[in-house]
Amino acid sequence: MTPLADRYGRRFPYLRLSIIPACNFRCTYCLPHGYHAEAGLAGPLSLDEIARLLRGFSALGMHKVRITGGEPSVRNDLVDVLRTAAAVPGVDKLAMTTNGTLLSRRLGEWMDAGLNAINISVDSLDRAAFARITGHDRLDDILHGVEMALAAGLPSVKLNAVLLRGVNDGELPRWLDYLRDRRVGLRFIELMQTGDNLAFFRDHHVRASVLESELQDAGWQALPRAADAGPAREYRHPDYAGRIGIIAPYSKDFCAGCNRLRVTATGDLRLCLFGEFGIPLRPFLQHDEQLDALVQAIGGQIGRKEQGHFLHEGRTGITPHLASTGG
Ligand code: SAM
Ligand code: SF4
Repeated sequence: MTPLADRYGRRFPYLRLSIIPACNFRCTYCLPHGYHAEAGLAGPLSLDEIARLLRGFSALGMHKVRITGGEPSVRNDLVDVLRTAAAVPGVDKLAMTTNGTLLSRRLGEWMDAGLNAINISVDSLDRAAFARITGHDRLDDILHGVEMALAAGLPSVKLNAVLLRGVNDGELPRWLDYLRDRRVGLRFIELMQTGDNLAFFRDHHVRASVLESELQDAGWQALPRAADAGPAREYRHPDYAGRIGIIAPYSKDFCAGCNRLRVTATGDLRLCLFGEFGIPLRPFLQHDEQLDALVQAIGGQIGRKEQGHFLHEGRTGITPHLASTGG
């Protein structure tokens, strides 16, 4: 089958699948008041629905799946979800983004189930600042989990830190110490405006380019962009084991490298994180015999993917916060 491509020639080998909208953290930029179930929202996809969904995307050339949320580890059957995803023919990279609260306790089970890449959100290396941002004083245990993942030889271990002006934007020296001897990929993510966080965004948004200049001044070199690299800009330094990636959604050409699609926990296809609509795929996930119909439904919608998002104009689409879409 021909791999999925949009009107702008972009291909989509990568699917981010949210498996639950709920979360146990209260990150100031995402769910500052904690998770509250949306009235009338359907339950998350079942294991059978997930298996059918992933087979459909795999038939269209997808080979990397990222399990996300909300917080994926809040879902009781996470290990079964991972096993289900790993068993889909064609899936060779099974990643997960997590806040790390269960990492130190569950890492072994996740790896046994087929997880081979993990992104752990660590917005600050300062214990008090971490607690202020997330609402939970869990930094030490989460960092312990990161050490375990590295020691266990998980092929890809990355940390995500959202840059927040006046909160964690002075931590580069501390991060560099951390990266000197650790084979970790740190991703600095520029804060994105969502439907719910406008006031917070105005107070705390800082351009990632500020940090990028600091990195360049400290001798970090940009890596040549791989054709399938996605939107992150990667830096390395000969004196450091770790690498740094910059995710700057407000930068020119950010969307040109888009290589991913998203499906929400209830089975809505989102062509863009900040799109204006979702496309319900759940009706195509009820029987194994619906594979062709599912593939056609996805293929028939991809032409609606816009060339870029409209965040510069403050248009955040139907995304109140990233927990709802699977950030
Ligand atoms: N709960 C998991 C976690 O925090 O890692 C997975 C879901 S979370 C929505 C995925 C990623 O999106 C996290 O790294 C989080 O920091 C990031 N994120 C959430 N809201 C964001 C925003 N408004 N701007 C930039 N990144 C955001
Ligand atoms: Fe939860 Fe992740 Fe949102 Fe933080 S960023 S509130 S951990 S979903």
